[in-house]
Amino acid sequence: MSKKLQVIKQNVIECVKCNLSKTRTNSVPGKGNFKSNVIFVGEAPGKNEDKNGEPFIGVAGKKLSAALEKTGISREEVYITNIVKCRPPKNRVPTTTERDICQEYLKQEISIIKPKIICILGNTAFNSLLGGSEITKFRGKLVRKDNQLYFLTVHPAATIYNQDLIKVLNKDIVKLFHLITELKNNKEVKIDIDYSS
Ligand code: SF4
Repeated sequence: MSKKLQVIKQNVIECVKCNLSKTRTNSVPGKGNFKSNVIFVGEAPGKNEDKNGEPFIGVAGKKLSAALEKTGISREEVYITNIVKCRPPKNRVPTTTERDICQEYLKQEISIIKPKIICILGNTAFNSLLGGSEITKFRGKLVRKDNQLYFLTVHPAATIYNQDLIKVLNKDIVKLFHLITELKNNKEVKIDIDYSS
């Protein structure tokens, strides 16, 4: 891990900036390859993540890992984080205030890693980063905003009891890494939604 990410990790571990610090067991900093071309951004830690202090290690994390492995990518090759770094009680959706307070950490992670694409997992990340909603309508699309590319897909937790959404997630992850390969080869990619224009 880069020294700068190590500092963020420590700051997240010690953070008491919002009320979620009072109910968490452990903060859950982002984890993974700081040279990754993609950052995956979910909503918030769940029960297992809160217990262990690591992102996406529960059932939803296994779904994401499986989708990555289908494209020949291991979790260690990418960087995974969340909009808020502490578990909301009973897994409720983090409030706008909690998201706003915590977003500085995500901004720092993005500015250090400088990913080619930020992969948004689910509605909360979609809403927090792009002001969007109804991810199932927009999933599979590539978005540009402020010179940053975003790719939209469903949250792996949504696939747990839904076989159709597993196929959707797997298909989207294949497309995501195809786009990354094209970008690495300096090829033009089709922007589906451009907030910059
Ligand atoms: S959710 Fe974010 S801002 Fe709130 S205590 Fe945790 S790390 Fe700090």
